[in-house]
Amino acid sequence: MLQDDTIAAISTAPGVGAIAIVRLSGPQAFSIAQKIFLPRSFSSEEKNEKWLPKSHQATIGYIRKNDGAASITPEYVDEVVLIAYQGPNSYTGEDLVEINCHGSPIVTREILTLALTEGARLAQKGEFTKRGFLSGRLDLTQAEAVLDLIHSKTERQSHLALSALKGALGDEIKSVRGRLMELTTRLVAGIDFPEEVGELDISDIEKIVADAMTRLETLAKTARSGRYLREGLKLAIVGRPNAGKSSLLNALLNFERAIVTDVPGTTRDSIEEPVDVNGVPVILIDTAGMRATEDAVEQIGIERSNKAIDEAELVVLLVDGEKGVGAEEEVIAQKLLASGRSFLYVINKFDLIGEDGFGEKLKAGPLLEKALESPLRLPRQADLKIIISAKTLAGLEDLKKHIERFAINDQSLQELGGSLNQRQGELCQKSLAYLAQLKTAAQAGLPQDCLVTDLRSALDALDEISGETVTEEVITEVFANFCIGK
Ligand code: GDP
Repeated sequence: MLQDDTIAAISTAPGVGAIAIVRLSGPQAFSIAQKIFLPRSFSSEEKNEKWLPKSHQATIGYIRKNDGAASITPEYVDEVVLIAYQGPNSYTGEDLVEINCHGSPIVTREILTLALTEGARLAQKGEFTKRGFLSGRLDLTQAEAVLDLIHSKTERQSHLALSALKGALGDEIKSVRGRLMELTTRLVAGIDFPEEVGELDISDIEKIVADAMTRLETLAKTARSGRYLREGLKLAIVGRPNAGKSSLLNALLNFERAIVTDVPGTTRDSIEEPVDVNGVPVILIDTAGMRATEDAVEQIGIERSNKAIDEAELVVLLVDGEKGVGAEEEVIAQKLLASGRSFLYVINKFDLIGEDGFGEKLKAGPLLEKALESPLRLPRQADLKIIISAKTLAGLEDLKKHIERFAINDQSLQELGGSLNQRQGELCQKSLAYLAQLKTAAQAGLPQDCLVTDLRSALDALDEISGETVTEEVITEVFANFCIGK
């Protein structure tokens, strides 16, 4: 579906940059470009219209104000490189023009204003991508992947988004859909022409449905990791005062600062920003206030610790290796058991103790013992202890690996090369629920036309994921999260 108006926007981030891009898309994109652009090979007296944009070619020239016949000296705005893409071979599927200009906000505004004066209208958020979707260049999973790619905070996120953009998720959904469509056609044929086609064997139906369910379950599983990757994993570090919580927090923060913002003068102002832990954006919950005070209750920091555990998705229970475990750890263990939070049992101050020094001191009280033996404790293997030194950073890599494993604990993500977002995950679950219903109905020997109803509903949910059938509301919601110019 092609649109009949032409949109324009500044696609680069606001502010000063070396280069900025103003984009135009729609039926008038080329004619507007002709009016405001003069190739360098043309003399200033020549009319812009004599130039014809060539698809997929870059042309150097000037943006000039459309002077009409009156002005003797045309007023130039900037020297630019213009690239034209003739639809349907463009990002939007329409005629598209990209003007690479100098990155001054004054220049970009002026070029945009010229384009608007010549008949374009200001693009809405994500409208270029939306047009790509409406013209069939991208499916909805790919459009959403564009958004993920733009907003990715770690390399891992951006790689996964790119793979989804290349169609990994969409292809898998299409393939499952194809199999279910075949089944629908076959069932309907059996109902319409019972004599000629006959009913399908229940075992055949079950086999196809079971296969589709396995594949959809794999897809659905990725939504959990996908959420952590998109929104960040909330991690709390709890432990008795002086266990080394702040030191560990700083170690995790500094580690990232060293790799990511190696630029003098840039400091992390807030710990709200996620830390890149092996590609997982981790949001550290501030437990910095949990320090030793005179007050006996506050000393254990019970309240803060409880609050942090409630907010967290994963908890690091940090034990002071030198002091060992005791009443404080019992209190924390009680909270962990009550809240059902997964936790990593981490022993700190390895540098002071050494390998053999832990022994007796780490003998857990009854509640800690219970927590350690529960499935909440990660890693599950009881003999696997995470031992670190927040001071020397020994064992930190090991801890990071465990955090990563918690967030991305499934093979599915690797296999599929992408993760479903919340919208897609919910639809996948919906489709699975209809298939489960269908399976039960088939086993109960219900007539095959009942099965078709469930099958159609399962297919509808899949179509909504890829955007094959999707309401205007959903489309508006998806693209509302984009920025203008994309
Ligand atoms: P918090 O109260 O749990 O936040 O503990 P801090 O991070 O403030 O650490 C308490 C004290 O233990 C500080 O003097 C730290 O330098 C020290 N500390 C923390 N981790 C280690 C470690 O791994 N080894 C050694 N030797 N000292 C540590």
